Amino acid sequence: MTLILGAGLAGLSCSYHLGHESCLLLEKNANAFGHIAADRRDGFTWDPGPHVSFTKHEYVRNLFADSVSGEYDEYEVQTGNYYRGHWIDHPAQSALHQVPEPLRSQCLESFLQTREAGQEASDAPQNYQQWLDRAFGPVFAGHFPAAYTRKYWTREPADMTTAWVGQRVFYPAVDDVINGSKGPLERKTHYITKVRYPRQGGYQSFADKIAAGANIRYGADVIAVDLDARHISTADGQRYPFDRLINTLPLPVFVNLCRGAPDRVRAAAAALSCSQLLLVNVRAPHATLRPENWIYVYDEDKFSTRIHCVEKLTPGNAPPGWTGVQVEVYFSRHRPLDLTPEQVGDKVVTELIEMGLIDPAACADPKQIRHHIRYCPWANVIFDHDTRPALETIWSWLETHGLAREPGDLDPLTDWNTLPAQQPTPTRLAMAGRFGQWKYYWTDDCVLRGRQFHGD
Ligand SMILES: Cc1cc2nc3c(=O)[nH]c(=O)nc-3n(C[C@H](O)[C@H](O)[C@H](O)COP(=O)(O)OP(=O)(O)OC[C@H]3O[C@@H](n4cnc5c(N)ncnc54)[C@H](O)[C@@H]3O)c2cc1C
Repeated sequence: MTLILGAGLAGLSCSYHLGHESCLLLEKNANAFGHIAADRRDGFTWDPGPHVSFTKHEYVRNLFADSVSGEYDEYEVQTGNYYRGHWIDHPAQSALHQVPEPLRSQCLESFLQTREAGQEASDAPQNYQQWLDRAFGPVFAGHFPAAYTRKYWTREPADMTTAWVGQRVFYPAVDDVINGSKGPLERKTHYITKVRYPRQGGYQSFADKIAAGANIRYGADVIAVDLDARHISTADGQRYPFDRLINTLPLPVFVNLCRGAPDRVRAAAAALSCSQLLLVNVRAPHATLRPENWIYVYDEDKFSTRIHCVEKLTPGNAPPGWTGVQVEVYFSRHRPLDLTPEQVGDKVVTELIEMGLIDPAACADPKQIRHHIRYCPWANVIFDHDTRPALETIWSWLETHGLAREPGDLDPLTDWNTLPAQQPTPTRLAMAGRFGQWKYYWTDDCVLRGRQFHGD
């Protein structure tokens, strides 16, 4: 019997690929799907943050498509940026023509000076701030991505490393920036182009196939892990023995639950940083007011960080004639919230009205503009200078308790094209998922991680 901690996508995928009949999942919530679990109320479907599938992996594309019997929408996304009252296409570095003067010329000049100095070709950047300055020039970097980093990652860019960046931030060619400062480019430069989204049930429907038949014990809040005696304890007084254990719980939580974890390992777990997320879900009785699928907000005096309208994911996500605007607000121990969630919610509604995403004048009854808040305690793993050494300490200790070290286990990203689709089934202990492996994982990564495990 393989015991799997957590029934989010990674846990479900491990169980599916090992064979549900040989696995038991312990899940503290009353439902599965973890960070893709839909919140359905009043005719709206709200995901926990905007989720779309942009995977290039044929295996995952087929699995997701099968899950919804081909009932998904596929479309090109339009992404936008909001900067002090201005709307700028994404990525803004190749759409400088929409940046107001004199900032536009200053951005261009600083970019060209940086490239002429050839800094980007010199030694590797030591931190994300250096990466940004070299990629975009310090002026653009300061007004746009550095400001956004403080809001989204809750850290100064200098405190972050660069290994997580991958293809996620567009590194522009000189011509793209020059041409983009004069007018729109003819080609798209965002890393996400076409995306898929289920027509019914929210993003979690893409995981219905792998969840079907899973053996899940709901309400099983894991409170202790004994790796030597090989059993798990839950808050309801149950004890679960295991032959093999796969953990998908956030790594700092898992380490703290392990009996006998030495202080240095607990200290390493405490050094790992992750952002937390308040989702402000606002509904209003009028049509969608902006064309973008999602919007990045750079103004540091606004809580709103990323915004999307749920009916733009698929029309069935909102009742006809209504818009459902979801706003992400991030915080962490590095950037605590200075208001209560309710105060943040009220402020966000005011920001949406100012930005023109909600319009009381367009509502027959403005009192029908309402919002509710959803809290996600684990959002984005923050890759700072402490992450790698902390992971090394934790993995080395867990190795003495049956964890097999794997290539790239300190890295934020996994290149699935260079790994075998399946690895030997873990003998005793393995980690899976965004928070269990402490990686920058999307849903396809979680599925592919589970695929590495297989039945005997
Ligand atoms: C805002 C946001 C937007 C995103 N957008 C996209 C996107 O567009 N496309 C994409 O592909 N990916 C996206 N992702 C990433 C995706 O959501 C994650 O990679 C994925 O859902 C992580 O799954 P997981 O199983 O690793 O973790 P989780 O889903 O967190 O699963 C862990 C499970 O463990 C359970 N658990 C925790 N503690 C205990 C305990 N003590 N006892 C028992 N159970 C416990 C939890 O309840 C949860 O069910 C996004 C993520 C965020 C934060």
